[in-house]
Amino acid sequence: MDAVLLEEKICDIIREHMKNNHLSHAYLIETGDYLKSDDLMMKIVKSILCFKQGKHDELEKCNICNLIDSNQYTDLKFIYPQGNVIKKEQLLEIKKVFKTTPLNQYRIYVIFEAECLNASSANTILKFLEEPEPGVIAFLVAKNRYQVLETIVSRCQILTFSNYLEREIDSKVYDFIQRIVTNSDFYLDFKDILTFYMPDKNASKLLLDDLEFYLHQLLLYKTNSISTLECAELFTNLSKNSIIKYIAILEEEKEKLLYNVNYRLWLDHLLVRFLEVLT
Ligand SMILES: [Zn+2]
Repeated sequence: MDAVLLEEKICDIIREHMKNNHLSHAYLIETGDYLKSDDLMMKIVKSILCFKQGKHDELEKCNICNLIDSNQYTDLKFIYPQGNVIKKEQLLEIKKVFKTTPLNQYRIYVIFEAECLNASSANTILKFLEEPEPGVIAFLVAKNRYQVLETIVSRCQILTFSNYLEREIDSKVYDFIQRIVTNSDFYLDFKDILTFYMPDKNASKLLLDDLEFYLHQLLLYKTNSISTLECAELFTNLSKNSIIKYIAILEEEKEKLLYNVNYRLWLDHLLVRFLEVLT
Protein backbone atom coordinates (compact mmCIF):
# COMPACT_ATOMS: atom_id res chain seq x y z
CA MET A 1 0.00 0.00 0.00
CA ASP A 2 1.20 3.43 -0.93
CA ALA A 3 2.70 5.38 1.98
CA VAL A 4 0.74 8.56 1.31
CA LEU A 5 -2.50 6.63 1.35
CA LEU A 6 -1.48 5.01 4.60
CA GLU A 7 -0.80 8.41 6.13
CA GLU A 8 -4.21 9.54 5.00
CA LYS A 9 -5.82 6.55 6.66
CA ILE A 10 -4.28 7.31 10.02
CA CYS A 11 -5.37 10.95 9.67
CA ASP A 12 -8.88 9.79 8.80
CA ILE A 13 -9.07 7.75 11.97
CA ILE A 14 -8.00 10.78 14.01
CA ARG A 15 -10.53 13.06 12.27
CA GLU A 16 -13.19 10.49 12.95
CA HIS A 17 -12.30 10.41 16.66
CA MET A 18 -12.42 14.19 16.77
CA LYS A 19 -15.74 14.39 14.97
CA ASN A 20 -17.26 12.03 17.49
CA ASN A 21 -15.66 13.78 20.44
CA HIS A 22 -13.59 10.75 21.22
CA LEU A 23 -10.07 11.98 20.78
CA SER A 24 -7.83 10.05 23.10
CA HIS A 25 -5.55 11.87 25.59
CA ALA A 26 -2.65 9.91 24.24
CA TYR A 27 -1.86 8.07 21.05
CA LEU A 28 1.04 5.84 20.28
CA ILE A 29 1.80 5.95 16.58
CA GLU A 30 3.68 2.83 15.62
CA THR A 31 5.57 3.53 12.41
CA GLY A 32 7.29 0.20 11.70
CA ASP A 33 9.71 0.57 8.82
CA TYR A 34 8.23 3.83 7.66
CA LEU A 35 10.92 6.46 8.03
CA LYS A 36 9.14 9.72 7.39
CA SER A 37 7.64 10.06 10.83
CA ASP A 38 8.12 13.84 10.77
CA ASP A 39 5.94 14.19 7.67
CA LEU A 40 3.40 11.83 9.10
CA MET A 41 3.14 13.71 12.37
CA MET A 42 2.80 17.05 10.60
CA LYS A 43 -0.19 15.65 8.75
CA ILE A 44 -1.68 14.18 11.89
CA VAL A 45 -1.42 17.36 13.96
CA LYS A 46 -2.86 19.39 11.09
CA SER A 47 -5.80 17.05 10.85
CA ILE A 48 -6.65 18.21 14.38
CA LEU A 49 -5.49 21.83 14.48
CA CYS A 50 -6.06 23.14 10.96
CA PHE A 51 -9.29 24.94 10.03
CA LYS A 52 -9.83 22.47 7.24
CA GLN A 53 -8.41 19.51 9.12
CA GLY A 54 -5.42 19.49 6.83
CA LYS A 55 -7.55 18.97 3.76
CA HIS A 56 -6.33 21.69 1.48
CA ASP A 57 -3.50 21.92 -0.97
CA GLU A 58 -0.18 23.68 -0.43
CA LEU A 59 -1.17 26.86 -2.25
CA GLU A 60 -4.16 27.71 -0.13
CA LYS A 61 -2.79 26.86 3.29
CA CYS A 62 -4.61 28.41 6.22
CA ASN A 63 -3.00 30.64 8.87
CA ILE A 64 -2.77 27.78 11.29
CA CYS A 65 -0.91 25.56 8.83
CA ASN A 66 1.45 28.44 8.10
CA LEU A 67 2.17 28.85 11.79
CA ILE A 68 2.69 25.12 12.21
CA ASP A 69 5.03 24.94 9.23
CA SER A 70 7.12 27.83 10.49
CA ASN A 71 7.25 26.31 13.97
CA GLN A 72 5.38 29.22 15.52
CA TYR A 73 2.22 27.56 16.70
CA THR A 74 2.50 27.96 20.46
CA ASP A 75 0.22 25.08 21.39
CA LEU A 76 2.24 22.50 19.51
CA LYS A 77 5.50 21.10 20.85
CA PHE A 78 7.83 18.51 19.38
CA ILE A 79 10.20 16.58 21.60
CA TYR A 80 13.18 14.68 20.25
CA PRO A 81 15.64 12.60 22.24
CA GLN A 82 18.83 14.30 23.33
CA GLY A 83 21.55 11.80 22.72
CA ASN A 84 19.75 8.52 23.24
CA VAL A 85 17.32 9.62 25.91
CA ILE A 86 14.33 11.79 26.36
CA LYS A 87 15.23 13.66 29.47
CA LYS A 88 13.05 14.30 32.44
CA GLU A 89 13.71 18.04 32.09
CA GLN A 90 12.30 18.08 28.55
CA LEU A 91 9.06 16.63 29.82
CA LEU A 92 8.86 18.89 32.87
CA GLU A 93 9.16 21.79 30.46
CA ILE A 94 6.20 20.51 28.44
CA LYS A 95 4.11 20.05 31.55
CA LYS A 96 4.91 23.60 32.58
CA VAL A 97 3.99 25.05 29.19
CA PHE A 98 0.72 23.15 29.01
CA LYS A 99 -0.35 24.16 32.52
CA THR A 100 -0.88 27.73 31.34
CA THR A 101 -4.24 28.97 30.11
CA PRO A 102 -4.91 27.53 26.66
CA LEU A 103 -5.09 29.81 23.65
CA ASN A 104 -6.69 27.14 21.51
CA GLN A 105 -9.10 24.28 21.92
CA TYR A 106 -6.45 21.63 21.37
CA ARG A 107 -2.86 21.58 22.48
CA ILE A 108 -0.56 18.89 21.23
CA TYR A 109 2.84 17.55 22.13
CA VAL A 110 4.62 14.94 20.08
CA ILE A 111 7.36 12.76 21.53
CA PHE A 112 9.48 11.26 18.77
CA GLU A 113 11.37 8.02 19.40
CA ALA A 114 9.31 7.15 22.44
CA GLU A 115 11.60 4.13 22.82
CA CYS A 116 14.01 6.64 24.38
CA LEU A 117 11.80 7.30 27.38
CA ASN A 118 13.47 5.68 30.36
CA ALA A 119 11.83 4.79 33.66
CA SER A 120 12.62 8.11 35.24
CA SER A 121 11.44 10.29 32.36
CA ALA A 122 8.39 8.09 31.90
CA ASN A 123 7.41 8.57 35.52
CA THR A 124 7.40 12.29 34.96
CA ILE A 125 4.58 12.07 32.44
CA LEU A 126 2.50 9.03 33.41
CA LYS A 127 -0.02 11.07 35.33
CA PHE A 128 -0.02 13.78 32.70
CA LEU A 129 -0.70 11.19 29.99
CA GLU A 130 -3.63 9.86 31.93
CA GLU A 131 -5.16 13.07 33.21
CA PRO A 132 -3.92 15.96 31.12
CA GLU A 133 -5.29 19.48 31.20
CA PRO A 134 -8.40 19.83 29.01
CA GLY A 135 -7.64 19.69 25.29
CA VAL A 136 -4.10 18.41 25.69
CA ILE A 137 -3.24 15.52 23.40
CA ALA A 138 -0.04 13.52 23.42
CA PHE A 139 1.36 11.70 20.43
CA LEU A 140 4.16 9.26 21.03
CA VAL A 141 5.95 8.00 17.97
CA ALA A 142 7.80 4.71 18.00
CA LYS A 143 8.99 2.18 15.46
CA ASN A 144 7.86 -0.70 17.55
CA ARG A 145 5.44 -0.59 20.46
CA TYR A 146 7.21 -3.45 22.20
CA GLN A 147 10.29 -1.32 22.64
CA VAL A 148 8.38 1.31 24.56
CA LEU A 149 7.89 1.00 28.31
CA GLU A 150 4.73 -0.94 29.02
CA THR A 151 3.55 1.64 31.56
CA ILE A 152 3.50 4.17 28.73
CA VAL A 153 1.98 1.95 26.05
CA SER A 154 -0.87 0.89 28.30
CA ARG A 155 -1.93 4.52 28.64
CA CYS A 156 -2.04 5.17 24.91
CA GLN A 157 -4.37 4.28 22.13
CA ILE A 158 -2.24 2.54 19.55
CA LEU A 159 -2.44 3.38 15.87
CA THR A 160 -0.14 1.15 13.92
CA PHE A 161 1.29 2.21 10.64
CA SER A 162 3.31 -0.89 10.03
CA ASN A 163 1.74 -3.30 7.59
CA TYR A 164 -1.49 -1.50 8.09
CA LEU A 165 -3.55 -3.21 5.47
CA GLU A 166 -1.35 -6.22 4.97
CA ARG A 167 -1.96 -7.39 8.50
CA GLU A 168 -3.60 -10.78 8.55
CA ILE A 169 -6.36 -11.21 11.05
CA ASP A 170 -6.54 -14.70 12.47
CA SER A 171 -9.58 -16.49 11.08
CA LYS A 172 -10.49 -17.31 14.67
CA VAL A 173 -11.34 -13.65 15.11
CA TYR A 174 -13.88 -13.76 12.29
CA ASP A 175 -15.48 -16.83 13.84
CA PHE A 176 -15.58 -15.03 17.14
CA ILE A 177 -17.07 -11.90 15.61
CA GLN A 178 -19.79 -13.85 13.84
CA ARG A 179 -20.69 -15.68 16.96
CA ILE A 180 -20.80 -12.70 19.29
CA VAL A 181 -22.88 -10.71 16.88
CA THR A 182 -25.36 -13.45 16.26
CA ASN A 183 -25.58 -14.53 19.90
CA SER A 184 -25.63 -11.23 21.66
CA ASP A 185 -29.09 -11.74 23.16
CA PHE A 186 -28.11 -14.81 25.03
CA TYR A 187 -26.02 -14.07 28.04
CA LEU A 188 -25.17 -17.70 28.70
CA ASP A 189 -24.21 -18.52 25.14
CA PHE A 190 -22.09 -15.49 25.05
CA LYS A 191 -20.26 -16.52 28.17
CA ASP A 192 -19.54 -19.94 26.67
CA ILE A 193 -18.19 -18.29 23.57
CA LEU A 194 -15.86 -16.06 25.54
CA THR A 195 -14.60 -18.98 27.58
CA PHE A 196 -14.03 -20.98 24.44
CA TYR A 197 -12.14 -18.29 22.54
CA MET A 198 -10.31 -16.91 25.53
CA PRO A 199 -9.21 -19.87 27.62
CA ASP A 200 -6.37 -17.91 29.21
CA LYS A 201 -4.75 -14.50 29.48
CA ASN A 202 -2.47 -14.93 26.48
CA ALA A 203 -5.22 -16.07 24.20
CA SER A 204 -7.32 -13.13 25.37
CA LYS A 205 -4.63 -10.62 24.69
CA LEU A 206 -4.08 -11.87 21.13
CA LEU A 207 -7.78 -12.00 20.40
CA LEU A 208 -8.46 -8.55 21.81
CA ASP A 209 -5.54 -7.08 19.86
CA ASP A 210 -6.94 -8.51 16.65
CA LEU A 211 -10.44 -7.46 17.53
CA GLU A 212 -9.29 -3.93 18.16
CA PHE A 213 -7.50 -3.88 14.84
CA TYR A 214 -10.63 -5.17 13.16
CA LEU A 215 -12.73 -2.41 14.75
CA HIS A 216 -10.33 0.23 13.47
CA GLN A 217 -10.77 -1.29 10.02
CA LEU A 218 -14.51 -1.28 10.49
CA LEU A 219 -14.37 2.42 11.26
CA LEU A 220 -12.46 3.00 8.04
CA TYR A 221 -14.98 0.90 6.18
CA LYS A 222 -17.87 2.91 7.59
CA THR A 223 -16.25 6.15 6.48
CA ASN A 224 -15.65 4.71 3.00
CA SER A 225 -11.89 4.83 3.41
CA ILE A 226 -11.66 1.17 2.53
CA SER A 227 -14.05 -0.58 0.22
CA THR A 228 -14.16 -4.14 1.49
CA LEU A 229 -13.99 -5.76 4.87
CA GLU A 230 -14.82 -9.27 5.87
CA CYS A 231 -17.88 -9.58 8.13
CA ALA A 232 -18.64 -5.87 7.79
CA GLU A 233 -22.22 -6.64 6.79
CA LEU A 234 -22.83 -7.97 10.30
CA PHE A 235 -22.32 -4.50 11.69
CA THR A 236 -24.63 -2.38 9.58
CA ASN A 237 -26.49 -1.34 12.73
CA LEU A 238 -23.45 -0.55 14.79
CA SER A 239 -22.84 3.20 14.81
CA LYS A 240 -19.43 4.79 14.49
CA ASN A 241 -19.82 6.03 18.03
CA SER A 242 -20.42 2.52 19.33
CA ILE A 243 -17.37 1.25 17.50
CA ILE A 244 -15.25 3.92 19.11
CA LYS A 245 -16.76 3.07 22.50
CA TYR A 246 -16.01 -0.58 21.84
CA ILE A 247 -12.38 0.21 21.08
CA ALA A 248 -12.11 2.21 24.30
CA ILE A 249 -13.49 -0.74 26.26
CA LEU A 250 -10.99 -3.10 24.66
CA GLU A 251 -8.16 -0.76 25.54
CA GLU A 252 -9.26 -0.49 29.15
CA GLU A 253 -9.80 -4.19 29.58
CA LYS A 254 -6.52 -5.10 27.92
CA GLU A 255 -4.79 -2.83 30.36
CA LYS A 256 -6.35 -4.64 33.29
CA LEU A 257 -4.98 -7.90 31.94
CA LEU A 258 -1.47 -6.55 32.45
CA TYR A 259 -2.02 -6.50 36.16
CA ASN A 260 -2.53 -9.47 38.32
CA VAL A 261 -6.28 -9.70 37.90
CA ASN A 262 -8.32 -12.76 38.65
CA TYR A 263 -8.83 -14.04 35.14
CA ARG A 264 -12.30 -15.52 35.64
CA LEU A 265 -13.60 -12.35 37.25
CA TRP A 266 -12.06 -10.29 34.50
CA LEU A 267 -13.79 -12.42 31.87
CA ASP A 268 -17.16 -11.94 33.59
CA HIS A 269 -16.54 -8.24 33.68
CA LEU A 270 -15.55 -8.20 30.00
CA LEU A 271 -18.78 -9.95 29.16
CA VAL A 272 -20.83 -7.28 30.90
CA ARG A 273 -18.95 -4.54 29.13
CA PHE A 274 -19.36 -6.17 25.71
CA LEU A 275 -23.08 -6.45 26.28
CA GLU A 276 -23.25 -2.75 27.16
CA VAL A 277 -22.29 -1.92 23.60
CA LEU A 278 -23.86 -4.76 21.70
CA THR A 279 -27.31 -4.53 23.19
ZN1 LIG B 1 -4.69 24.44 7.32
